[in-house]
Amino acid sequence: MYFYFYYFNRNYKINSYFSFMSKDDKFKKVISHAKEYGFIFQSSEIYDGLSAVYDYGQNGTDLKNNLKDYWLKAMVQLNENIVNIDSAILMHPKIWKASGHVDAFNDPLIDNKDSKKRYRADVLIEDHIAKIENKIQKEISKASKRFGKSFDIDQFKSTNSRVLGYQNKIIEILKSFNQAMENDDLVGLKKIIENLEITCPISGSKNWTDVKQFNLMFGTKLGASAENATDLYLRPETAQGIFVNFLNVQKTGRLKIPFGIAQIGKAFRNEIVARQFIFRMREFEQMEMQYFIKPGTQHEWYSKWKDNRLAWHLSLGLGEENYRFHDHEKLAHYADAACDIEFNFPFGFKELEGIHSRTDFDLSSHEKYSSKKIKYYDNQSNESYTPYVLETSIGLDRMFLAVFSKSLIEEELADGSKRVVLKLPKILAPKKIAVLPLLKKDGLPELSKQIIEEFKWEYNTVYDEKDAIGRRYRRQDALGTPYCLTIDHQSIEDGTVTIRDRDTMVQERMKIEELKVKIKNELDIKTWLSF
Ligand code: ATP
Repeated sequence: MYFYFYYFNRNYKINSYFSFMSKDDKFKKVISHAKEYGFIFQSSEIYDGLSAVYDYGQNGTDLKNNLKDYWLKAMVQLNENIVNIDSAILMHPKIWKASGHVDAFNDPLIDNKDSKKRYRADVLIEDHIAKIENKIQKEISKASKRFGKSFDIDQFKSTNSRVLGYQNKIIEILKSFNQAMENDDLVGLKKIIENLEITCPISGSKNWTDVKQFNLMFGTKLGASAENATDLYLRPETAQGIFVNFLNVQKTGRLKIPFGIAQIGKAFRNEIVARQFIFRMREFEQMEMQYFIKPGTQHEWYSKWKDNRLAWHLSLGLGEENYRFHDHEKLAHYADAACDIEFNFPFGFKELEGIHSRTDFDLSSHEKYSSKKIKYYDNQSNESYTPYVLETSIGLDRMFLAVFSKSLIEEELADGSKRVVLKLPKILAPKKIAVLPLLKKDGLPELSKQIIEEFKWEYNTVYDEKDAIGRRYRRQDALGTPYCLTIDHQSIEDGTVTIRDRDTMVQERMKIEELKVKIKNELDIKTWLSF
């Protein structure tokens, strides 16, 4: 039997006030919290850092590993026809010719002559469009306040002259923007920037250089002497490691189409503008899955994987309103359909994951460049064909930022004090349980260590005896630890401990065996991933 025991509950939250902060302030809080609590550090910090390269600290590494595990379980463990590989970062240089990266992995760059700052021309235009979209949103929220319950958003959008004006402006910009991107028309891109009177956010001036193409791949050399060295690239995506192993995996695994090959690994891009913390890094990690299918079935699989990936995101409980699909107008050279899952980051909706119908472009191209036959023999229909590919590609670091930023909440409590709490999905929390002896004496530390022994085999468990209990709770709140177990004198007498829930701050006294059942139920992967 267990009974409830509430104490320290007077502080129950009354308000979350991060929502009142500006986007910039919220983002700054995210970055400083990530550093202060050992999640993310600037790379090479003692040498003043390396731009857009980051190190994960002790808690960040745990969170990142939990994210990988959550993806791998959903993608590989729960799908008997999807396998996992780990290919090398360095690959034969012809691969990048075949994939199109040598010729086409470019971004259009533009410099502001006054600030000397470099920008992606397409991003400047996209940001301008986002500003107009924000104006529409403002009109909508003003009107919804004015009309209250009777507000009809669709009618408002289709009749309000200001909103219609903004919408037409966006359509007009998109028309010329898509055309310029489609035709690699760099002069056209510059003209759009000039016509829209886009200014540099640093200098405020419109003094732009011409737009140039910039290849994003990092070059490196292989070989002991400079004369004989071969030029290589650090891979800009993990996908090609999957394509060039298609036959190896299919044959050794005796896999039948449809089947998938998944991979988590580092990718490198010499990004022109990398100023958004771990959103855009020069060294980052991708979690990609290439699903090999019969030609002609790509539309069906495209829509299935869109649904599946969105369901995976929603299973984490960060709020449906924070995700949206964005269909690509301009398709990459290899795709016949593509979209992004965008997430509401602290700086607005941006790409989190890409879902691409890649046709047979990659396998056909590797067949051509390697002169090796890359076909699948279907022994039911007795035909041999080049499979089509459906890709899901998500940045692990962007996923980290999405989860971390949405979970970081500052609450005002009933007694007027504030607490910062990282309400991570419990399944992803770096440490699941903190064991806290109320006092550093009377056998409480010893009993705490015994309790850790009970849990540490299954869950990341920490011990903390420093400072008053309230401060220890706050520390664990800031780290996102879902459960604090407080060990007191009664624990020695009757074997019960107090469990405090990170999100509600509610405390209950329970027997250890009952605790185990509660925690097991709440962290049951089956419940999290049954969608
Ligand atoms: P963007 O348009 O933001 O540059 P992309 O369309 O080039 O991204 P993809 O090539 O589709 O991105 O890569 C798949 C995923 O890898 C992206 O959805 C993103 O999550 C991640 N990703 C791409 N570039 C970076 C980067 N520089 N830093 C961190 N993650 C990245």
